[in-house]
Amino acid sequence: MGCHDAAMKNSYARRFLVRPGRKLKLARCPTDVPKLYRNEKDAEEQLARQVARTSELQDVLYASDRHSLLLIFQAMDAAGKDGAIKHVLSGVNPLGCQVSSFKQPSAEELDHDFLWRTTLRLPERGRIGIFNRSYYEEVLVVRVHPQYLAAQRLPEGAVEARDFWEGRLRSIRDHEAHLHRNGTRILKFFLHVSHEEQRKRFLDRIDHPDKNWKFNLGDVEERGYWDDYMRAYEQALAATSTQDSPWYVIPADDKKNARLLISQAMNATLESMGLAYPKLDRKRLAELKAARKLLAD
Ligand code: ATP
Ligand code: MG
Repeated sequence: MGCHDAAMKNSYARRFLVRPGRKLKLARCPTDVPKLYRNEKDAEEQLARQVARTSELQDVLYASDRHSLLLIFQAMDAAGKDGAIKHVLSGVNPLGCQVSSFKQPSAEELDHDFLWRTTLRLPERGRIGIFNRSYYEEVLVVRVHPQYLAAQRLPEGAVEARDFWEGRLRSIRDHEAHLHRNGTRILKFFLHVSHEEQRKRFLDRIDHPDKNWKFNLGDVEERGYWDDYMRAYEQALAATSTQDSPWYVIPADDKKNARLLISQAMNATLESMGLAYPKLDRKRLAELKAARKLLAD
């Protein structure tokens, strides 16, 4: 094991990895853990240091131009996806980052297979791509509300097949393995909030005028399907967490702690990729030398 793997091994965030091939019980995964920071200021400073490191690593990722990094965020409503993305990527060169949000599919998107719309948004080599929701919605919200399948116009009998959901999960595993082989590292974060914490956050959105815009009655209705969502998440995460493209169940009742954990997992992965600035060959070095001479004259 090289030193890069060691960086990965020592990260605290590793505790929250979903073990490949194992059953997952979300009720046993914490939504709240001891804080990684002493006070607000300390949290901000730690995050700023980690973001600065991300920024350095992103620069090498960009320069070496061989790999890309894809971060996938999934969660129940009000779990803090948007805030996590904003804070964890703040300070990273916007030219090297692409954020895509996936909502209810359009008519054009429904006319394609379920991996099409996200494929169009995959990060180019050298970039970091962020998916705010993703093709996982197809085994989460669609599994909880299978009536959405009608609009997908799948072949006769496909939806009725006993292994329909297993087939979708297999498509996702295969897709991610393909991307990995071709240079895309994928990290997946499920922001795990408790049922009670979600209730508090919804109430907060109702009670504070500057947060009213975030409140959506539909989210409260969706909350009624909590147990179904947990079951769908358990099946999806257990079936698709792999060595190469792992899932993290991030305790998210404390937003600042969650952001530190995500940032740590991302940096540990970037460190583990053994990135380096490209080495110049002799010819190129000679060119640089000649250019220096011209500039000096
Ligand atoms: P925010 O509320 O913070 O703006 P959001 O991601 O919740 O972010 P919304 O517009 O509120 O955005 O919700 C998007 C909705 O689209 C979610 O309820 C999600 O489950 C749903 N959705 C996403 N992908 C699909 C899909 N493939 N099929 C059906 N519904 C989907
Ligand atoms: Mg929403």
